[in-house]
Amino acid sequence: MVQVNTKMQTLPPYLFARIEQKIAEARAQGIDLISLGIGDPDLPTPPHIVDAMTASLRNPANHQYPSSVGLLSFRQAVADFYQRRFGVALDPKTEVVTLIGSKEGIAHIPFCYLDPGDVSLVPDPGYPVYGIGTMLAGGTAYYMPLTAENGFKPVLADIPTAVAKKAKLMFLNYPNNPTGAVADLAFFNEVVAFAREFDILVCHDAAYSEIAYDDYRPPSFLMAPGAKEVGIEFHSLSKTYNMTGWRLGWACGNREAVEVLGRFKSNVDSGVFQAIQEAGIAALRGDQTCVEQMRRIYQERRDLVIAGLEAMGWRPVAPKAGIYIWVPTPKGFTAEEFAELVLEKAQVIITPGRGYGERGEGFFRISLTTPTDRLRTALERMQSALGRVEI
Ligand SMILES: *Cc1c(COP(=O)(O)O)cnc(C)c1O
Repeated sequence: MVQVNTKMQTLPPYLFARIEQKIAEARAQGIDLISLGIGDPDLPTPPHIVDAMTASLRNPANHQYPSSVGLLSFRQAVADFYQRRFGVALDPKTEVVTLIGSKEGIAHIPFCYLDPGDVSLVPDPGYPVYGIGTMLAGGTAYYMPLTAENGFKPVLADIPTAVAKKAKLMFLNYPNNPTGAVADLAFFNEVVAFAREFDILVCHDAAYSEIAYDDYRPPSFLMAPGAKEVGIEFHSLSKTYNMTGWRLGWACGNREAVEVLGRFKSNVDSGVFQAIQEAGIAALRGDQTCVEQMRRIYQERRDLVIAGLEAMGWRPVAPKAGIYIWVPTPKGFTAEEFAELVLEKAQVIITPGRGYGERGEGFFRISLTTPTDRLRTALERMQSALGRVEI
C-alpha cells in the first residue's frame, strides 16, 4: 500500500476521535458511561432555526452551488450582529467570509499565509486545530505557554524576538477552550501593538463569546482600536445556537485576510449550503431568548460542577464564560492516569489536559454539555469513588 506523506504521519490521533472510540467500546459492553469529555452541546437547535431551514430547503435556488464566500444576506446578518453586540462596524461585502464551521477557516488560514519555515504563534494548551493547521500547511508552531499565574494568557514579552520576526500568524481564543479564561480589551490592545510591531496577522477565535455568566459579556478582539488592521476573528453558530452539526461559521475583520481566505475557499470548496446560511440568518436575527435560556442552563451546571469539585477537596475557579472547567489533577497523577482512574472507578469520562498541548499536563477538562441530571450523577459517582482528593 502507498505510504501516506510525512505530514499525515506526524498527525497526532485526533483527540476527540480517540475519546469517542473509548466511549463506543465501553458502551458496546453495556457500561453506562457519562461523558464530560466532549465540547458538543447536548441541547437541540432552537425550533425557529430548524423551521427556517425546512422552509429554505424547498427553494430550488438553494439546491445549486452556493457562492464560496457566502450569501451576502448571511454576511449582512453577521455584520449587524457585530454592530449590535460589540459596536464593531463591518462591511459585509469585504470584511466577512462565510465558513463551513469556523474550524474550516482556522485550518485553512495557515495555507494562505505560511511558507516553509514561517511560524504561527499558538497557545498551549489550546484548540488543537491551530497547531495542526499550521503543520499541514508546512509551517512551524511556536507554542506560547498559558499558565494559571498569567491568567492563561500568553506573555507577549516572553516570545523571543527572533521567533516573533519569523511569525506570520498568532492564534488566540477567548473565552478560552480549554482553560475557561477570558481576556479584556487591555490584553487585546497589547496584542494589537505586538502584531503591528512584528507584522503578524492575529487570528482570534471567539466561538464562545455568547456563552457567559452572571453579568459578564466577553469583548470581541475587533473592539480593540486598530484590530481590523492586524487581525481577523473567527466565529460560529455552533456554540451560540447549538448548531455544531450544521457547519456554519465565519471570519471577519481585516479585508485582505478575508479576501485571501475566500479566494482559497473558492479553490478547495464551494461554500456552505444556502439553506443552512438562511437558517443562520434566522438564528442571528431572531429572538435571542433561546441564548439566554442556554446561558442559564450552563450556569446552573457550572455551579453544580464547582460545588461538586469543592466537596472533593478542589478549590476550582468558576469560569466567567465558556463551557469548560479546567481543573488541576490530584497529587501523584498525570492527567491521563487520573482520567483512567475516573473512567474505571466512576464510569465518567473527563479529558486529560495533555490532549490540548504539553502545558495541559497536570489538568483535566470537564465540559458542561451533559444534561444536568447526568452531570449531577457523574459528580456523585466521582465523589463516592474518590472521596477527598489531595491537590
Ligand atoms: C467548538 C469550537 C469552535 C467551533 O468550531 P465550528 O467549526 O464552528 O463548529 C471553534 N473554536 C473552538 C476553540 C471551539 O472549541
